Amino acid sequence: MKISKLRLSGFKSFVEPATLFIEPGLTGVVGPNGCGKSNLLEAIRWVMGENSPKSMRSGGMEDVIFAGTQSRPRRDFAEVVLQGEDDGGDEMEVVRRIERGAGSAYRLNGRDVRAKDVALIFADAATGAHSPALVSQGKIAQVIAAKPTERRQMLEEAAGIAGLHVRRRDAESKLRQTETNLERLEDIMAGLD
Ligand code: ATP
Repeated sequence: MKISKLRLSGFKSFVEPATLFIEPGLTGVVGPNGCGKSNLLEAIRWVMGENSPKSMRSGGMEDVIFAGTQSRPRRDFAEVVLQGEDDGGDEMEVVRRIERGAGSAYRLNGRDVRAKDVALIFADAATGAHSPALVSQGKIAQVIAAKPTERRQMLEEAAGIAGLHVRRRDAESKLRQTETNLERLEDIMAGLD
């Protein structure tokens, strides 16, 4: 997929709504230390479904909401909108919003969707929250030091097959449920004999 626009509001240090246009080609983000460069990358990960506190450099889910400064009160919600084109060339807009005490909600092209649906879209496109295309500080050293299983995971994500694992787990759980239903049916049938 192609990402063309990112809109943030109340996300980490981006208290005021901010829109970034991502043009074709290489995009660089420059600025002094602590100005929010890494927060931008985290916003992309977050809208794709990331929840891991480690990846988000935060303690809890709500820590992504602007926490306030001496001169500005904290915000009650954070929202990130990612616009672009899917692999078929169709326009796509994904929105993730979190409100204090109410958790996260996602919208895909204006419709409410589950976190899982969003994660699947990006996992299939090999652009997910853990995509090797998003290289954060310290990541290179991490790749070098990674265990073989972790490296395999990175390669699977790069190859775009990570989504298949999610589908496999879903299918296996449905299969187990069906087996349980069958056993229950056999018990009922035995009772009827
Ligand atoms: P460096 O170049 O040092 O890595 P950077 O430009 O990547 O810096 P970030 O790490 O993205 O900067 O931004 C850090 C800033 O974001 C800090 O000033 C921190 O206080 C602020 N910040 C992070 N989370 C929140 C939050 N929930 N509310 C308000 N500010 C936040």
